[in-house]
Amino acid sequence: MSHSFQTKLLHNRHKFDKSNGAVSVPIQHASTFHQPDIDSFGKYDYGRSANPTREALEETIAHLEEGTRGFAFSSGMAAISTAFLLLSQGDHVLISEDVYGGTYRMVSEVLTRYGVAHTFVDMTDLGKVKAAIQANTKLLYVETPSNPLLKVTDITAVSTLAKTIGAWTFVDNTFLTPSLQKPLELGADLVLHSATKFLSGHSDVVAGLAVAKDPELADRLAFLQNSFGAVLGVQDAWLVLRGLKTLHVRLEQSQKSAYKIASYLEKHPAVKKVYFPGLTTHPGFTLQHRQAQGPGAVLSFELHSEEDLRKFVGKVEIPVFAVSLGAVESILSFPAKMSHAAMPESERLKRGITNSLLRLSVGLESAEDLIEDFEQAFQHTITAASGNQEQRRVYHGNLR
Ligand SMILES: *Cc1c(COP(=O)(O)O)cnc(C)c1O
Repeated sequence: MSHSFQTKLLHNRHKFDKSNGAVSVPIQHASTFHQPDIDSFGKYDYGRSANPTREALEETIAHLEEGTRGFAFSSGMAAISTAFLLLSQGDHVLISEDVYGGTYRMVSEVLTRYGVAHTFVDMTDLGKVKAAIQANTKLLYVETPSNPLLKVTDITAVSTLAKTIGAWTFVDNTFLTPSLQKPLELGADLVLHSATKFLSGHSDVVAGLAVAKDPELADRLAFLQNSFGAVLGVQDAWLVLRGLKTLHVRLEQSQKSAYKIASYLEKHPAVKKVYFPGLTTHPGFTLQHRQAQGPGAVLSFELHSEEDLRKFVGKVEIPVFAVSLGAVESILSFPAKMSHAAMPESERLKRGITNSLLRLSVGLESAEDLIEDFEQAFQHTITAASGNQEQRRVYHGNLR
């Protein structure tokens, strides 16, 4: 019997401990394991190479992403950086232009020192991707929806193109998780995650995951995970496993609220533009609908000026104002100074990440409460004050 994703989150190989029936994966602290004799070693020998608790998480994520083998790292960046070690000197990477700030920093300031070149490209435009391919292009690195502008890349089209030139496709699936999008089924070779976000979901652990499709690639990544050594600790592996159990229900609820909030913001006079792939006005709407089960729970919106933004942020009360996303509490962030601070201003502005852009990761609060909070905060922005008072009163009235 094949179960739905929702059921698989709870009923998988690690549903209970085979030795005693415990319904929570035990945390195995041991760093080393006794070996039966001089010639035969057990399955586990040293904690960096393998640990039963970490392995439970690795098997679970591999199962959920429909891959061959999973890997747990000490952070999303540890997962991503270790995956980049699959490349060699002289290789070239094509990468989404509005990629996560830390990935941008790794590619532009670290890999370059080791002779791995890169080109940032608008992955949503296949013509531009084709034009940017070089003889030594070994990797097409995709983030979809992208951060923070939620641009949607066609994973099937990009991975098909990558195969024609013998390159890999890696997809950072942090924003959607396998609950909404399965890159390996769409043709990607490796899925990467900051499990710090939706997968764990409670803003209480920093972790990274990777899942490979092909066993040969999985072996190479296993070698690198052990060589580089940025493995996830057992307490943190357990926290991710616990968070995963409620992934589906959390994401469903947050996504529902994200739709409501995006629609509210789209009509608001204080808002210049809303970026959310669930809106029919979003250029990636049709593609998102085709390749994923939903738009996710992250949206961005632009106000009319940085001054407006500062006033709004000063007055808004419910969301925490912080870096990160994908948590039970809504998180409002300022990409220009937070997630994308590692990107030079000129590069940032080129990508449309302006000083009047805010990103919202919708949590589990009531959507109506969030909208009401936003409404009172908008009353303080200059543009809203000069905008249509009557219209705003209507919005407010509708919530009651
Ligand atoms: C947060 C994030 C990362 C980095 O993950 P860490 O766990 O913070 O190291 C990578 N990609 C995306 C899309 C992220 O949001």
